[in-house]
Amino acid sequence: MAALASVTALALAVGGSAGTGHLTADTPTAAGAGPVARADAATHGACMISGGPAVQMSEGVPTLSGYSRSTGTVRALTLMVDFSDAPGPGSARSRFGEFFPQTRDWFRTSSYGRLDYLPETPVADWLRMPKPFRSYGIERGAPFDPGYRELVQDIVATADPRVDFRRYDFLNVLVTPNAGPSALDTVLSVTFAGNTEAPVADGVPVANASFVYSRQDDGSGSYAQTGYRVLPHENGHVFGLPDLYTQEGGGAVGHWDIMSEDWGANNDFLGWHKWKLGWLDAGQMSCVTARGTTEHTLTPLGRTGGSKLLFVPLDRRSGYAVELRTREGNDETVCRPGVLIYKVDANVDTGQGPVTVYDSRRDSGGCTRSPNVHAELSDAPFAPGEDFQDVRRGVRISVAGADLAGNYRLLVTRR
Ligand SMILES: [Zn+2]
Repeated sequence: MAALASVTALALAVGGSAGTGHLTADTPTAAGAGPVARADAATHGACMISGGPAVQMSEGVPTLSGYSRSTGTVRALTLMVDFSDAPGPGSARSRFGEFFPQTRDWFRTSSYGRLDYLPETPVADWLRMPKPFRSYGIERGAPFDPGYRELVQDIVATADPRVDFRRYDFLNVLVTPNAGPSALDTVLSVTFAGNTEAPVADGVPVANASFVYSRQDDGSGSYAQTGYRVLPHENGHVFGLPDLYTQEGGGAVGHWDIMSEDWGANNDFLGWHKWKLGWLDAGQMSCVTARGTTEHTLTPLGRTGGSKLLFVPLDRRSGYAVELRTREGNDETVCRPGVLIYKVDANVDTGQGPVTVYDSRRDSGGCTRSPNVHAELSDAPFAPGEDFQDVRRGVRISVAGADLAGNYRLLVTRR
């Protein structure tokens, strides 16, 4: 089992400086039906990149099976769990209120209404575990190592009289925030995704489960607005998305995706993730394979409708994604709107840097002062008149202009 785990630890800088802390473990294995991006293989086939068999959790499209559905109505069994040595402070309902309705709203906005996320709480009170927290030996999540297996089995056994586990798409475990270390020291929050080795409940494996521990409170006074954001991040794994931060932190993608940074002010998913999750129609994504120069229009990613994503495939595993980011929708900290260009490599695993954003202003220090937002990449988007070039691969992406409605015109040249 340990070989399946991917665990990344990051240091957290607190007190208003730019820094993030997050740690997770993901163990996908294939089983059952998973989300499939609604791509038209005839027109988008060249953009349906995939990773090799050694990649556990890939940016590839379609997402491998075994994860939760990411479109339509999804039922999230949400249990609030406490222990005799960490009794829940306040009501279980108030713990639930730290994450909802914001998490549901976040997904509705990000998905343009295509994901109807229903958090259900058949057990309204704290679910008291039979053993003290310390006896489970919960550490940085090794998926279903003995302690976690025992905890999940105890959750299932304790909840079973009141819960039919077959009714739900995945499980959220909102652990009492006083169990374990502060999230400022160690982020225990973790998701086990697509895991067929999981303990069984009512005949189905608990294959997709997100655990949230202590509060992501950086002391900046914004906890009530931003503290919930660990849950949409963890649920992103349940839907098959990899971690975009690396051992070095959020420097590969910055604040442009919640799988990169889930501390600090609100942010959205990359357009690539929205396509992967089935939230963009085939017509909203252009797969740019033609030689010569082609013209394209992009509408802001945070706005419903219109063209959202260009993808310029380089080979069967990777390519350049292009989208327009502005301060709207879930994107609350965009300080320099424009065209975000990033490389997606489906053959790079979770936490190893599967996505790399290109900075139009390298070493500028960025334009944001928002706490816990990676500053350098905050001014990464390309403005009208600017262009991105990969001379070796013969790709040039030029931002030709913007219209009064806020849409951008682009020229893509392939040699
Ligand atoms: Zn994660």
